[in-house]
Amino acid sequence: MDNRTKIPVLPLKDIVIFPTMAAPLFLAGEISIISIENALLTKDHEIILLAYKNASIEKYDEENLYETGILGKIIQIVKFPDGSVKALIEGIHRVKAFEFTKKEKLIQCKYKFLHDKKQKKAEDNALMKFTAAKFSEYIQKVTKMKAESFISLSEIKDAGKIADIIATYISADIAEKQKVIEELDVYKRLEYVNKLLSKELELVNIEESLQEKVKSSLGKTQKEYLLREKLKAIKEELGSKEGMDESEELRSRIENTKIPQKVSEKLLKEAGKLERMSFLTAETSVIRTYIETVLELPWCKKTKDVLDIHEARKILDEDHHGLEDAKERILEFLAVKKLSKEPQATIICFAGPPGVGKTSLARSIARALNRNFTQVSLGGINDESEIRGHRRTYVGAMPGRIIRAFQDAGTKNPVILLDEIEKMLPSHMGDPTAAMLEVLDPAQNSHYTDHYIDMEFDLSDAFFLATANTVDRLYKPLKDRLEIIYLSGYTEEEKISIAEKFLIPRQLKVNGISKAIFEIRQSGLKSIIESYTREAGVRELERNIAKICRKFAVELVSEKKQKICIDSENLKKYLGVVKFEREEAEKEPLIGLVHGLAWTEFGGEILEIEAGIMPGRGNLNLTGRLGEVMQESAKTAFSYARSRYKELNLPPDIQEKYDVHIHAADGATPKDGPSAGTALAISLISVLTKRPVRADTAMTGEITLRGRVLPIGGLKEKSIAALRNGIKIIIIPKGNEKDIQEFPDYIKNKIDYKPIKNLDEIIDFMLSEKISEPKALHNGKKKNGVVLPKYVK
Ligand code: ADP
Repeated sequence: MDNRTKIPVLPLKDIVIFPTMAAPLFLAGEISIISIENALLTKDHEIILLAYKNASIEKYDEENLYETGILGKIIQIVKFPDGSVKALIEGIHRVKAFEFTKKEKLIQCKYKFLHDKKQKKAEDNALMKFTAAKFSEYIQKVTKMKAESFISLSEIKDAGKIADIIATYISADIAEKQKVIEELDVYKRLEYVNKLLSKELELVNIEESLQEKVKSSLGKTQKEYLLREKLKAIKEELGSKEGMDESEELRSRIENTKIPQKVSEKLLKEAGKLERMSFLTAETSVIRTYIETVLELPWCKKTKDVLDIHEARKILDEDHHGLEDAKERILEFLAVKKLSKEPQATIICFAGPPGVGKTSLARSIARALNRNFTQVSLGGINDESEIRGHRRTYVGAMPGRIIRAFQDAGTKNPVILLDEIEKMLPSHMGDPTAAMLEVLDPAQNSHYTDHYIDMEFDLSDAFFLATANTVDRLYKPLKDRLEIIYLSGYTEEEKISIAEKFLIPRQLKVNGISKAIFEIRQSGLKSIIESYTREAGVRELERNIAKICRKFAVELVSEKKQKICIDSENLKKYLGVVKFEREEAEKEPLIGLVHGLAWTEFGGEILEIEAGIMPGRGNLNLTGRLGEVMQESAKTAFSYARSRYKELNLPPDIQEKYDVHIHAADGATPKDGPSAGTALAISLISVLTKRPVRADTAMTGEITLRGRVLPIGGLKEKSIAALRNGIKIIIIPKGNEKDIQEFPDYIKNKIDYKPIKNLDEIIDFMLSEKISEPKALHNGKKKNGVVLPKYVK
């Protein structure tokens, strides 16, 4: 190459191109463009790249240009419409420029090549490696990419080249880069580049840590801002006044609420805890809820008691038909309460089937005493904490049912009805009955402590009442605390009276129907009771009346009907298909069929017991879902019957020739209990002796092997069931005779009770004479006024 030929100079402001490296340059200045254009006229498109010594002085003459630069080659050029140019230029070699000339705007010069000096030292290799590694780190930090993806330095063995490459990529000053160009000793060059690299790396590190700091400080302020906004929103939602802190508000509420000193001290302590906590933690909401719950409890609020016995009697009568015994007992209780200031030691418990007015009586008591009324349902509770509350440490802890009853009532002296008290059961979660004993004990209940409230709350002003469906299951110590008032089911006549006097007027009022246009006749009520309800109480009856009222309301509003009169004929239209076909108790005397009497939670029932014999080997079959006790009673009855074979004129080998089958009707309902003993025995004797059983009589009583008859329970309900089925005589154990005295007149007057000590006394009464020709009767036809069941041989 003729280095004496002048070639164009391209002055560079902010970039240095090193040999073997190519870079795109955007050029817009006149000098640059003229220079490029002239260079393109040369054979090899060569151009001298020289940096400005001082880029801020826009002086385009040679004095402001370094003399050492790079010979470059234009590889590609793109011209833009605005006259600017993008040129890709490759660095070829280090050169020294001289003999500058400037013609118009074109600067030109001569140049000579500058050659690298290489004096290899032992440590140079190490320096190369070290610098290359440092460069990798730098690239990684700056670009977040691996240096290898740009260039593989490990393959380059020339230190000068490595230095040039690194110098291309680092963002050093132009003056510093110029020094790299000017340094011809390659190892010194590399050393210098290494220094530059260290400086750059340090800068990058500083920058990085600054960035981190900035980022985190921004994060913190942003977070605080967000939280403050949230807090504002929550406060707005809760309606707390501007500027008034949550805990301050609570504090003032505690101070302004009428509560005992001890309570307010404890609450203020809790509020203090709240102040020391940062807002929005789970713990603060627990404390806040606690304070609010305790504040809302009626610590001091009471209604003024009224204790006027005449008024009480009036209210009880206003709300209830009949129930004389219960009303009497309630009045006695209230009278004693008026006289004595002592806390009540016993608690009244209304026992009886559902819908007989237990809750309704309790409500009337509350009304008579001018107290608030609240109900606690205890059915199925098997966890002590349900009664006494959970400690606050549990998530979602709440006060127990007793404290919640006071919350509901809003006064310290409400009437609290403990519903279904016999259905509380001890379990592995603790014994709720023990907690209940404490609630009901006047010696203890003034210091009652709920686990959640964690302070004593005085229950002694409350008037507790309880209800139970059966008292047999009642936990003994609890039973001792209760004074049981039995409410047995209603007869049909009573139900009709209750419906006419109470249920219909109430439903008319609820549904906004005038009395003048609505009537349910007695025949209608009778049909509802018989065909649509099966209950001892009147709840279903009331529901059915309500249904009729609603249906009529629709007719009234849609102007289809103006008046309604329900009787047994048009009932179906309002209540749909008949729900219960009541099977009448058998009215004809039959062999082997006896009316037993059963007692369930829903009241008394007639239990038809049938027996049959057939050739066999003395087996006793029992069907009809009989429980264990009833099966044993059947076996006892069978043994008793066989032991009387002489008196009854039976062949002694009876059990060797026959199988006996006993069935209790309505196989869908499980039955148990010993009280069917006498009925089972008579049924067996009837079938064995082929003597028909009286159909107008029912039996109840437990039986022993010798035929002794032992007392049973639920006689009143059983009597009502018997009355419903048109039965006039009931055979009862002698031991139950005393119960009859307490029965209402409508039962005593209609039923003839026959108390017995031993079954022998009534065998002849229950069974008519033996039928001599059983074979002729085998088709079930009547003979001598007696119908034989088909299975009789
Ligand atoms: P329980 O608590 O015994 O299950 P309720 O007291 O809830 O039954 O009674 C059910 C409905 O029957 C109530 O509307 C109640 O007023 C009514 N009731 C029950 N017995 C009578 C009665 N002797 N006189 C008037 N209404 C009664």
